[in-house]
Amino acid sequence: MSSRFVYADNAATTPVADEVLDAMLPWLKEGYGNPSGIYAKGREARKAVDAARTLTAAGIGAAPGEVFFTASGSEADNWAVKGVAWAKAKEGKKHLITSGIEHHAVLHPMESLRKEGFEVTLLPVGPEGVIRAEDVASAIRGDTALVSVMYANNEIGAIQPVQEIGELCRERGVFFHTDAVQAIGHLDVDVKAQSIDLLSLSGHKIYAPKGIGALYIRKGVPRFPNLIDGGGQEMGRRAGTENVASIVGLGAAMKAACRGIGERNALTLPKRDRLIEEILKIPGTRLNGHPHKRLPGNVNVAFEGIEGERLILMLDGQGIAASAGSACASGSVDPSHVLLAIGLPYETAHGSLRLTINEMTADADVDYILRTLPDVVRRLRG
Ligand SMILES: *Cc1c(COP(=O)(O)O)cnc(C)c1O
Repeated sequence: MSSRFVYADNAATTPVADEVLDAMLPWLKEGYGNPSGIYAKGREARKAVDAARTLTAAGIGAAPGEVFFTASGSEADNWAVKGVAWAKAKEGKKHLITSGIEHHAVLHPMESLRKEGFEVTLLPVGPEGVIRAEDVASAIRGDTALVSVMYANNEIGAIQPVQEIGELCRERGVFFHTDAVQAIGHLDVDVKAQSIDLLSLSGHKIYAPKGIGALYIRKGVPRFPNLIDGGGQEMGRRAGTENVASIVGLGAAMKAACRGIGERNALTLPKRDRLIEEILKIPGTRLNGHPHKRLPGNVNVAFEGIEGERLILMLDGQGIAASAGSACASGSVDPSHVLLAIGLPYETAHGSLRLTINEMTADADVDYILRTLPDVVRRLRG
């Protein structure tokens, strides 16, 4: 075992930031009141939830009444996709549009809707992982209920033309949902300027805890079915006693994530580019995803003749935490659906490595990865 530890899997999850934990702790201790309580302890918790809603909304250019807390990014995705589909089906609109590189939290609900009788069009994805707005335009039909295209991909970091897609969906009268889980904190998000109707976000990708997320629903989107019925929490749209501490944590994380993006990216980008440049010097490698339209901390490379899982385990042995594809797919040996969707052969997809760094990744960490990786690749190929 190495004594050094380099965390390069920030797209899978992030640690909870000190300022987030500090904001949360009082609500796990003395601030335990139920926000529905009308006594002081309840009212205080309600105020904390409202303040977090305001911070979360402000981060994406929304109004507080348009933000609904959920238990995860996955729940937000499911709710957006299923909710809009179910509501639109009543008007005879049963056609859905998405892409093959979406997170499973979008693809699997799409798949279950298909089994319910909806038709799903998968948009073509370019070899660099970018979807073209023109292709969205030509896929829209009279019976299209929803377009769901992610803001930035979690595996290859490819950034999608969400504003263009949003504008054309608005023109054509089709609702547009975007999974912005990976974009928040790295790219500017403004739901109004970008014509976004629904947007999912998640806490644990932006230094808040796991198990908290939110769905933005534009005020003009007619009410659609709830996923979770019960009490009247979240303006009657998502039952369950509020996870006050985590909601407060998400608010604090959103406040930090949505400011200083340019400064953080300026620190991350040179390290990402150095990693890519140096790793591509190893023979038999190629970059997965787009060279520029890519998240500032994302590196995804394919190594010829190597099994991704073995590479990850060897790197782990050297103290480097990385990912072979989607963390959600770990335990299964299937290559990433994203890499297959951008046209990689099965073997190449199987030999891919994702490193996701952030602004706090030290130059010495980058050096260590670059010192360690070529040797590990050589040993695996040998
Ligand atoms: C992590 C992730 C999700 C799921 O969020 P959870 O809070 O883990 O359920 C959805 N979409 C993308 C793009 C993600 O990276």
